[in-house]
Amino acid sequence: MIRSSLFVGVLLITVPNILISEPTVELVAASEAPPIEILFSWITPLDDGASVLLRLDDADGARLTSACPDTQSVMSESNGDKVVRWKLTGKCRMPVVTYRGVNYIMPISGSLPPREALSDVASETLRNTLKASSIIKNDYRLSSLRLRQFFRDIEIILAARNTKFALPIPESPLPTNQSHLPNAARPFRAGVTDGVHHGWDFYISEGTPVRAIEEWTIMHVKRDFTWSEMEHLHKWTTELERQENLDTYRGNTVYLKTLSGHVAIYAHLSDIPDNIQIGTKVKKWEIVGHVGDSAVPDKKYLYHLHFELAMNPMRDEQAGTHTFEDVLLWPFWGKGKSITWVRENGKNLFE
Ligand SMILES: [Zn+2]
Repeated sequence: MIRSSLFVGVLLITVPNILISEPTVELVAASEAPPIEILFSWITPLDDGASVLLRLDDADGARLTSACPDTQSVMSESNGDKVVRWKLTGKCRMPVVTYRGVNYIMPISGSLPPREALSDVASETLRNTLKASSIIKNDYRLSSLRLRQFFRDIEIILAARNTKFALPIPESPLPTNQSHLPNAARPFRAGVTDGVHHGWDFYISEGTPVRAIEEWTIMHVKRDFTWSEMEHLHKWTTELERQENLDTYRGNTVYLKTLSGHVAIYAHLSDIPDNIQIGTKVKKWEIVGHVGDSAVPDKKYLYHLHFELAMNPMRDEQAGTHTFEDVLLWPFWGKGKSITWVRENGKNLFE
């Protein structure tokens, strides 16, 4: 921790003494030192505008890049210890910085990314951030707590990505019949959609409750499907229009943004509980709807849950900006894979 004490010398120049008490505390013991150390002080702003302090192994601040607008890095040097102040002057919901081809999140000046936005960030970036982060202790308790919550949120999301989903209908096993699986052909709607089945069909009696596969936030609800909507399908020219047509075929739907970042889509529902609204937080296994036949065209195959997983591309530079339309364009789980792959890997997705 010799380097840390040198660094505190830099801080003393820029902030009132009263806010500084102890040197850097390692938050996460890194097995091998990352080429960057993110020094969270919360004694910010350290300068006009928002900034975060970094120690780089080669102190080449110019090699920091970010998709966020209006960013800059400013070099400092103290006793041979090179420090960079990374600064953000514009708005950026997910401040991801790239250094030597590796991404890190650098929250600044109390603007910690919310858990929703963190769930859109690649696991590797989240792990890199934990590994590279250190807290410089100070007396600003509230901020310190929020900072700890930020790290805790990252850990919670990483843990969720490592945990299997609950089945949407616990008493109904994952289908194996080829026509009920992702990638099955749906030629009857090929003219107005991609003609491909995006999920699993669980055949079970009308009204069976369907449940949240993982905790988190309802991002879209449709409970007023009428058959007249089928008369207004787009003559599609864009992929979004084509996917909007497919969404009409889903009938009454609930879209659940899971903690791990992917979106669970429940389709053909009958009734949906009143409390299930956009923004509702649900627990794993909570009832989000009931099996129905909304928008099921073939009366031979009536009541079933159509369930699919829209896979979050987790591109750091887009983090925090995902809309319903974005999700329509996300690839479905298993897209383009063989039936053997879908059957084998599907089993590992769910408890
Ligand atoms: Zn289906």
